[in-house]
Amino acid sequence: MLFTKDFSTVSGVSPDARVQIFRAHFSAPGEFEAMAVDAYAIHTERALVLCDTLLCPDDMQRVCSASGVDRTEKQLLVINSHADWDHVWGTHYLVEHYAPTIIAHEYCRTRLLSDEEKHLLREYQEKFSVFHSVILVPPKVTFRDTLTIYGGDLTLELFPAPGHQPDQIALWIPEIRLLLAFDALEYPLPGIGSPELVPAMFRSIERFQELQPAHVLCSHRENSSSPALITQNLSYLRQIEQRSRALLARQQITEEDLSDPARLIGYPYAEARAHVQSRIDDGYYEMTHAENIRCILRYCLKHP
Ligand SMILES: [Zn+2]
Repeated sequence: MLFTKDFSTVSGVSPDARVQIFRAHFSAPGEFEAMAVDAYAIHTERALVLCDTLLCPDDMQRVCSASGVDRTEKQLLVINSHADWDHVWGTHYLVEHYAPTIIAHEYCRTRLLSDEEKHLLREYQEKFSVFHSVILVPPKVTFRDTLTIYGGDLTLELFPAPGHQPDQIALWIPEIRLLLAFDALEYPLPGIGSPELVPAMFRSIERFQELQPAHVLCSHRENSSSPALITQNLSYLRQIEQRSRALLARQQITEEDLSDPARLIGYPYAEARAHVQSRIDDGYYEMTHAENIRCILRYCLKHP
């Protein structure tokens, strides 16, 4: 099957020259349309820190030459924001060429060693030749609460931000008030991993609000670093919660009702994506919207 991919260095979005943004664009007819995922290179005095490794080793080769990893004397650190395939499948290139220290949440390691992820990789390799060189690499240094990297001029504070996935982390750089939210926020709509993760998702985004960042970057987004995304994602999820609770107060629901959850709670996809001007993968985000509603409805059913 066809999988098309492109790579670019994103300019004019990062609020600080020490933080570079790299983007892999990808499409696969019938599966993804015009999707993109970002990775970052953070140049601190003491270390060069790569955050996420895009889709495959080929992408990371391009990140390394564009960020100067292949020319630097600095220590190389790699951070996995979470174990989802579009964020970690390029890691092996770094292991082969630079032997970096790879850092992630403890549960990211568990996921990368799991049969589920191995199975997913095999499935993608059978479908798309672009993934043939991917090898899953578990992180070598893990944490559960927080982990701080003292880079000299910049401090990188890693902390858990579960909700999209249980192993999701975020990165806060206090000196420049920059939050890297990875997939804990998303434009146009965030995605919740499961009903059990609903309260964690709300808590993670509320914690972002408390930080009062000046700039916010997330992994799937158009060219903006506006912190308004935090409020936008949070009020979207609260809308779902309010409409779900209002529905459950009026009537009982069955599994069958959940086949069209947007209609059920009266929150059509068109309304949820009304703020979006640019081209997005509507098929993908309509599914995300439906899945978010299912998660929140299921959570509210258990926690009236
Ligand atoms: Zn992602």
